[in-house]
Amino acid sequence: MGQTIDGKAVAAVVRAEVRERVVRLAARGVVPGLAAVLVGDDPASLVYVGNKEKACEQVGIRSLRHRLPASTSETELVALVRRLGHDADVHGILVQLPLPAPLRAQVVIEALAPEKDVDGLHPVNQGRLLAGLPGLRPCTPLGVLRLLDTTGVALAGARAVVVGRSVLVGKPVAFLLLERHATVTLCHSRTADLAGEVGRADVVIAATGQPALVRGEWIRPGAVVIDVGINRGADGRLCGDVEFEPACARAASITPVPGGVGPMTVAMLLANTVTAAEQAAAARAA
Ligand code: NDP
Repeated sequence: MGQTIDGKAVAAVVRAEVRERVVRLAARGVVPGLAAVLVGDDPASLVYVGNKEKACEQVGIRSLRHRLPASTSETELVALVRRLGHDADVHGILVQLPLPAPLRAQVVIEALAPEKDVDGLHPVNQGRLLAGLPGLRPCTPLGVLRLLDTTGVALAGARAVVVGRSVLVGKPVAFLLLERHATVTLCHSRTADLAGEVGRADVVIAATGQPALVRGEWIRPGAVVIDVGINRGADGRLCGDVEFEPACARAASITPVPGGVGPMTVAMLLANTVTAAEQAAAARAA
């Protein structure tokens, strides 16, 4: 039986590290600030922003909410994002997605100051990841790597299979694994033999949004499995993209859903905000 990776516990460690970094910044007169831009009144988005604000408060990050009506024009939204880009008290900017139609997320993301793009979605940060240069990395993928590190799995030379190639999760996870010298296979809906690809992997990352797509019997004995998926199963309960019980029987370590990757995403957002504040402070001091 594999070890269950406790995402809540790892997230708590990350938050404690962030808190210490906030204290060190305070000694230099800097209070990290995260601006959350929320357009419209999508109930799920309201909950997500509320959770992020609470998490900020707990570690000493100042959170500033900018709530705009769904009727906001793209020009107004872009102007706000640009203004925040010039605000010295704001170190991170978070635009809560999805945006109500007809607002285009890509246009707004491209208006972000790359050094404040704590979601790691700006093309400059994506390009820096591709090029292997330092930059802000997307939160969920960073959380995946942090969870892998807690298992002690040696990534250099490991065969890693990522199922899902989204810009938000699959692709950045693949590049972060490549940065750590894993041999990476990126699978998607057109992959010819998903079972065969997964079966060869020392490390499996599933990010598809398809409940139990990755069968337990595909998992190579001793593999490490990170399940990013958050799905509502037929019984109404939350489940991942991996068939948990049979996969757990074969894996060395595996994340549960919920309680695996989920708690890491907000923790890494806090870490990215503090990183942005540290870099801004260093740039001012230089
Ligand atoms: P997307 O829908 O953007 O991407 C899904 C990917 O899965 C696509 O690349 C798609 O392939 C691939 N896929 C779909 N069906 C199959 C299949 N049958 N076989 C192989 N590949 C398949 O999803 P996201 O990446 O945004 O999210 C993935 C999951 O992760 C969701 O459940 C989401 O809720 C969860 N999530 C969780 C987070 C967390 O904090 N824990 C944060 C972000 C997401 P193709 O490109 O060919 O269509």
